[in-house]
Amino acid sequence: MISLTFYGGAGEIGGNKILLENGGAKVYLDFGESFDFGEDYFYEWLEPRSANGLECYFEFGMLPKIPKLYSRSMLQFTDLPYQSSDVDAVFLSHHHSDHIGQLAFLDEDIPLYLGRTTNAIIDAYSTLFPTLMNIGDHNKLHQFSSGDKIPVKDLTFRPIHVEHSTPGAFGYVIESPEGNIVYTGDFRRHGPQRAWTEEFIAEAAGSKPRIMLCEGTRMTPDPENYYDEEQVFEKIKGIMERSRGLVLGEFSMCNIDRFNSFYRAARETGKKLIVDTKYAFILDRLRQFLPLPDPREDESIKVYYKLAKSRGYGEKDYAKFEREFMGNMISFQEVKEHPKDYVMFTGFNKLMEFIYVQPHNADYIYSSSESFLEGEENKDQRRVLDNWLNHFGITLHKAHCSGHAGKSDLEYAIRAINPDILIPIHTQNPEEFKKIHENVRIVRRGETVKI
Ligand SMILES: [Zn+2]
Ligand SMILES: [Zn+2]
Repeated sequence: MISLTFYGGAGEIGGNKILLENGGAKVYLDFGESFDFGEDYFYEWLEPRSANGLECYFEFGMLPKIPKLYSRSMLQFTDLPYQSSDVDAVFLSHHHSDHIGQLAFLDEDIPLYLGRTTNAIIDAYSTLFPTLMNIGDHNKLHQFSSGDKIPVKDLTFRPIHVEHSTPGAFGYVIESPEGNIVYTGDFRRHGPQRAWTEEFIAEAAGSKPRIMLCEGTRMTPDPENYYDEEQVFEKIKGIMERSRGLVLGEFSMCNIDRFNSFYRAARETGKKLIVDTKYAFILDRLRQFLPLPDPREDESIKVYYKLAKSRGYGEKDYAKFEREFMGNMISFQEVKEHPKDYVMFTGFNKLMEFIYVQPHNADYIYSSSESFLEGEENKDQRRVLDNWLNHFGITLHKAHCSGHAGKSDLEYAIRAINPDILIPIHTQNPEEFKKIHENVRIVRRGETVKI
C-alpha cells in the first residue's frame, strides 16, 4: 500500500510537506512553509521567539504533533517528548520557502537530499540573509545531480531537473514495487531551460506511473494569460532602446533566467548591467553550476558599491564577501553622470540609492510577481514606491512571466505522463484538473490517502 499524507501543499499554493509511506519507507517530499503560516496569530512585532522552538506553534495547532520528527531542541518546551527519528529521508524539490521553510524544525539526523545547485543557493542565501534563510543543522546532507538513482529501502528516487523561476529545481520519479509515483515540484516550460522540463516529462511518462502529484499554481478557471521568457526579453530590450535615461530593473535575485534576459538586453543595447555586491556574490557562487558572467571582470557587468559611512570606498568599509568584486566597482557618481550607459538592478529596499544616483527620467522595469504591485496587502509599499517614482519623474513598466506552467502546459504534461491517478497539489483549483484527467483525487490539508 502506498500512503500519502498532505501536511501541506493540499488546497493551497505552496507549503508542500507530503509524507510518503510505502513498504516500510517513510519519506517527506519537501518540508515547506505555507504562505499564510502564522497569519492568524502573529502580526509584525507579535512573533514567536525562535528560542522557544515549537512551543508556540503547537499551542495554536500550526504544526502537527508528529512523534519522531522534530529535533530535541525544538521540542524542549513542548509536551511532545523527543524520540530519535524514524523518517528515512526528506527530498527537496528546490529552495523556495514554500518547499524548505520548516526544515529548521527537523531532527538533525534525518537524511536530507537536495540538488547541488539548490545547496549552493541555500549556502549563499544563508551567508547574505541569515535571518531569512535558516534551514537548521543537518548531520546527513546528501547532494545529488539530475538523473541520480537514490535507494531508500524498497523505493528508488530519481531526481530530474525541471525549469522553474530559479535554477536547481527538480521533479522526482519514485520507483516503488507497488507502482511508480511522479512528483513534479514546481515547474514551467516556457523559458530557456524548457528542455529540462521535457526531459522530466519524458522520464516520468516512461515510468508509467500509478500516481502523479502535480503542481497547479496557474490552473485557474480564467482564460490563460500566456507570456514566455523570450517575450519578456523583447519587452525589456525595447524599453532599454527607447529609454532617455537610466534603466532600473527589479527582479527576484535567484531568477537567473530573468537576470540573463536583462544581461542580454543590456549587451544588445550597448549598456552595462549594474548589480549590487550581494548579487555579485550570488552570481559568483552559481557560476560553477551555470553559464554565468564573472562579476569580477565581465565587461558588461559593473558592481555597485554604496557610499560608505566614511564617505569613501576603502576596503575596510565593506564586508569581506563584498571586497572580492572591488576591481569592477562602480559608484553613484558615474551612474549619475552617464545614466544612459547603464541598467541598474534595484528593488524597494534599494530606493535610498536614488538620492545619490538622481535617476531623473529613468525607466523602472518591474519584472517580478504582479502580486506586489496589485495586492491589497502591499498597498502601503506601493504608495511609497509610487511617491519615489513620481518624485524623480520615473516611468514604471511591467515585464514578467511566471515560474509556473500555464494551463495548456499543465495539460500537456499530464497527458504525456498519463498516470492512473492524478493528485493536484500546490493549487487553489484542484477541481479544474478533472477537465483533463478522468481519475483525479482531490486532497485536503492533513488528509491521508491510501492507494
Ligand atoms: Zn512552490
Ligand atoms: Zn517554487
